[in-house]
Amino acid sequence: MATTVNTVTGPISSDDLGKTLVHEHFFFGYPGYQGDVTFGKFDREEAIRVGLDVAEKVKAHGVRTVVDATPNECGRDPEILREISERGDIQIVCSTGYYYEGEGAPAYFKFRAALGPAEDEIFEMFIKEITEGIGGTDIKAGVIKLASSKDVITDYESMFFRCGAKAQRETGIPIITHTQEGTMGPEQAQLLISEGADPRKCQIGHMDGNTDVAYHLATLEHGVNVAFDRFGIQGIVGAPMDEARTATLIGLLGLGYTDRILLSHDTVNLWLGRPLVMPDSVAQLLANWHPTHLFENIVPKLKQAGVTDQQIETIFVENPRNLFDPQPVREAARAEATLER
Ligand SMILES: [Zn+2]
Repeated sequence: MATTVNTVTGPISSDDLGKTLVHEHFFFGYPGYQGDVTFGKFDREEAIRVGLDVAEKVKAHGVRTVVDATPNECGRDPEILREISERGDIQIVCSTGYYYEGEGAPAYFKFRAALGPAEDEIFEMFIKEITEGIGGTDIKAGVIKLASSKDVITDYESMFFRCGAKAQRETGIPIITHTQEGTMGPEQAQLLISEGADPRKCQIGHMDGNTDVAYHLATLEHGVNVAFDRFGIQGIVGAPMDEARTATLIGLLGLGYTDRILLSHDTVNLWLGRPLVMPDSVAQLLANWHPTHLFENIVPKLKQAGVTDQQIETIFVENPRNLFDPQPVREAARAEATLER
């Protein structure tokens, strides 16, 4: 039986998610953008215009659902997402969660943690945003977003991981994560599982920041899903070139992990604050960082390497549904395939 998924326009059946991009940002701002209001005042109409353009482009490739992974303190605005969803006729799932310590806004909950039970407050926030709504609206978060630093899950970040696992136990919704520069994938999986999360409902994100197959296998060993969700980001924020991550991906698909891999771009379609200024060299590296890059450039490469249409369908349609609603039939089929091997 299908389960219910919270989208920004209300609940849908997990069977209706369809082709899904599992980690994008309609708009995003590094905390601090709020202070640059003199030069970077938020333009709601522009955010909606850009969002509608994204909706149109991805729908042309059959996408029905986009998961917006924007953390609470990075400009998440569920009401704008709802307007984009309604006017653009696209399903959007929004997140509840905070970004990693280095690029998020840790001061708020660190100060509260120094004085009192911040962890209880974070848990309370997750539950209310998932079951009742965000910021006084009736728009509910559909995924829990967690994030850790390069080579470490800090004490601050650990509070969110513990609360996220606990909130998943209570509500059943998936956890999607941020790993920094391709580190801490196995450690995130271990921590979440030790706190009672269902590995099948965990998507360890930005794993394509690391091209070492052994690192991926050590993460997959825990039963979680891994996301190659930064296609198009090359040479900045520790990201490898697409060609290298594609090779790693093909290797894992060849090893039989098709049903545990999710793909996306982590695009930021509108930067909050001032418009971004990029040196030409960086702009060139990021030329393909847009929300249809996978369909236009990467999927054809996968097919050239022998990846089948059925595998592509599994990755974009079945795997996102399974993240929300793990299918027992699939589990049985996998057990059987393992026995045959
Ligand atoms: Zn992201």
